[in-house]
Amino acid sequence: MIRGSVVVVTERCKGCGFCVEFCPTHVLALSSAFNAKGYHPPHLLNAEKCSGCNLCGLYCPDFAIYGYREPGAKTDRPAGARKEVEQEAFDAGTR
Ligand code: SF4
Ligand code: SF4
Repeated sequence: MIRGSVVVVTERCKGCGFCVEFCPTHVLALSSAFNAKGYHPPHLLNAEKCSGCNLCGLYCPDFAIYGYREPGAKTDRPAGARKEVEQEAFDAGTR
């Protein structure tokens, strides 16, 4: 199985649950914690099952989550793509 990971920018999340519903390997669940806007962001329930497919990111209406392939995976995204994701997460104060 292709290994991946996912970044949640919790303060952008509105708790709609689309990412939870559409993740094909059931990696995510809505947290019981609140973000600053009063919504429940997703957290990783089964992180080891993430393929990095980024379906969660494609369905998220608020650009609050991103999946990416682990380095070395066959279908890895370009190196710059991962850096952008990490930079955005850093800018949002989540890393
Ligand atoms: S799809 Fe986006 S806004 Fe909706 S719960 Fe997931 S991260 Fe939050
Ligand atoms: S990247 Fe794919 S497998 Fe990973 S959490 Fe998002 S939808 Fe699920």
